[in-house]
Amino acid sequence: MLKRGGTHLATIPKHLIWIECACGHTSSVPIADVLKTTSLLTVADVIDRAKCLRCFTRNVKEFRLVYQPNGVVRAMEGAEQGKPDLPPI
Ligand SMILES: [Zn+2]
Repeated sequence: MLKRGGTHLATIPKHLIWIECACGHTSSVPIADVLKTTSLLTVADVIDRAKCLRCFTRNVKEFRLVYQPNGVVRAMEGAEQGKPDLPPI
């Protein structure tokens, strides 16, 4: 658990994690949602658990943290269409 750890999610609640799988599938998850729906603590935890919805592997090729101060608002607007492409954790 204490390997590199990464950034603590609680310190970046207004960011998104953008993830690209080795198969080319991309997905982004608001940190606020991760904090609400999981007990994961760090960015590294999320990357470790993220599973591609297209190829069903855990093979993250690249990820970025994106500052998205309006992410919460946008998430609420999108709620009617169901959850965004959350990786099953
Ligand atoms: Zn994939």
